[in-house]
Amino acid sequence: MSDNRTKTLMQGATFELSVPDVLSMPPDIGAEVAFVGRSNSGKSSALNTLCSRKNLARTSRTPGRTQHMVIFKLDSTRRLVDLPGFGYAKVPKFVREKWQLELPRYLNGRECLRGLVLLVDIRHPLMPAEEAAIEWCAHYRKPLHILLNKSDKISKGAAATVFLRVKRRLEEESSPTSVQLFSALRRRGLEECWHQLDQWLWKKG
Ligand code: GDP
Repeated sequence: MSDNRTKTLMQGATFELSVPDVLSMPPDIGAEVAFVGRSNSGKSSALNTLCSRKNLARTSRTPGRTQHMVIFKLDSTRRLVDLPGFGYAKVPKFVREKWQLELPRYLNGRECLRGLVLLVDIRHPLMPAEEAAIEWCAHYRKPLHILLNKSDKISKGAAATVFLRVKRRLEEESSPTSVQLFSALRRRGLEECWHQLDQWLWKKG
């Protein structure tokens, strides 16, 4: 299941730009995959691990930086997008509300968006903001892949139980969905995730 072209591509990811809203994004061409998650779910750690970098996405960002969409260039037509973390207690309410509008706007209008990776802390799955993300993806028929991160923090049995619970929840949706165990810290689940990204990034338009 080793998707070396995607692994290699991600290792060469470079910061392209950071934008405050969907309207300021690069032209809607090529293929992109976006990462989203509640703050502290390990989104930055996962991006760094998947790209084999220490500091591509910043871990533990300051509140001011959490509002921007950060775009990483993979090659001339492919990109990764680090969406603002949601549920971040320290950002003002109006910023959170803005993002509740901005995410569906992004999912709706963005033709080149091939799929969304949702980072979930395996110890706190299916929180309201995550339910909302699942529903938006289903509504706009965008493929969704969930990483149950921090799987190193719980036993194998407990992880398998959460995996099944989330899998069953996703089966309720008719749009393409998948879920896997992951640990950014222990570098677990990387091959499976690269495989999913490979399918999306090379899918014909
Ligand atoms: P973000 O806010 O979603 O970008 O989360 P960060 O990547 O900044 O991670 C939040 C905290 O969780 C940091 O202290 C990370 O070291 C920790 N963390 C991230 N991934 C894992 C993981 O897989 N296992 C464990 N045990 N800790 C993790």
